[in-house]
Amino acid sequence: MTDRSNVLSHYRGERSLLKTRCVTICLILAALGLAVAYDVAYSQPQTAEQNTAFRLIQTGAEQLHKSEYRSAANSFEQALRYNDASPEAHLGLGMAYYFQREDRYAERELLTVVELNPGDATAYQWLGDLFYRKDDLDTAVMWWEKAVALAPNDAKLRTRLERVQRENKTEKDFNRDVTSHFLIKYDGREKIEAGRIILRILEDAYGEVGRALTFYPEREIQVILYSGKQFQEVTEAPGWSGAIFDGKIRIPIGGIEQETPGLRKLLFHEYTHAVVGAIAPRCPTWLNEGLAQYLEGRSIDARQSEILRKMIRTEKVPFLANLEGSFMGMGSGQAEYAYLISLSAVRYMLEEYKMYRVKMLLEELAKGADMAKAINIGLTISYEDFERGWKRSLE
Ligand SMILES: [Zn+2]
Repeated sequence: MTDRSNVLSHYRGERSLLKTRCVTICLILAALGLAVAYDVAYSQPQTAEQNTAFRLIQTGAEQLHKSEYRSAANSFEQALRYNDASPEAHLGLGMAYYFQREDRYAERELLTVVELNPGDATAYQWLGDLFYRKDDLDTAVMWWEKAVALAPNDAKLRTRLERVQRENKTEKDFNRDVTSHFLIKYDGREKIEAGRIILRILEDAYGEVGRALTFYPEREIQVILYSGKQFQEVTEAPGWSGAIFDGKIRIPIGGIEQETPGLRKLLFHEYTHAVVGAIAPRCPTWLNEGLAQYLEGRSIDARQSEILRKMIRTEKVPFLANLEGSFMGMGSGQAEYAYLISLSAVRYMLEEYKMYRVKMLLEELAKGADMAKAINIGLTISYEDFERGWKRSLE
């Protein structure tokens, strides 16, 4: 299983240079499986230069929202030519670099924001994200603690910090192994062989899932192997969950001594989530879980086909639009249906439209389209007609 835990972090940056009326621009961004909502409050500009800088910042913010990171970086850089002390422009530029994985430049810009505006939690949060992504958990925790100190009433922020602290404590003494595509961490020397088995399977997944989706992530994927107890403590995943991908692949391993078909399926499944997340960070859960199950090689047996037929006959099949959010809060029975429906809809999609069209759909999602628009462009059919066709195929 896996479910992208849709942690919704709300980042709020506020600044009032001139204490005049403020304009709020809301950006909905996504990073590594995290949906990030971010507000910037701007001061109303007063001079011609400030006006131009303000317009460029607005343009940059819109480009960030559409995932046009290179153009956004250009807009913020231009804005800084008119006003190089604008924390908003430095913050926007830092975010644009962050999403382009230009970590050194992102860090430089975010540190500038901290200098210009030390009382605002936003840049500290992004610095925490940056170091978390680099797997430097000590430094990530340090920045997140500063952010929480500045915004003590932000419950989501505090939850995020607590989780990273737990993760840091658990993984402090883990061994690390790095290959060209993966960074793997595990507890205890006796797990070396298990780590090697897992890396070997993941390298196969890199090739096979990569060929299917014609996509090979540029950056290494982090994989963390836990005991069952550590897995529960760090992830707080539901009991029915066998592994999760939340930007990192996290797997509870017992005593793995050899490759088994089940382990292979589990790793192909989680690796598919990593690839889908790299193509389209905001992929609806049913599509994501359907693809992961399809590429792990899962099929629908006679009993499950009958369940689906019965659900169709009694009109109990939920709308796909209601399965776009996380499955994490579901009980095991409900989750079983949600996964089955996801696989069924994706199998139909692949049979009718082929993988290259599904890839186009994912690329539309990456550009900021919602599912209805992405299906429209990728599959040249409406969401409703797709859903109707899929349900008819089950009767
Ligand atoms: Zn999954």
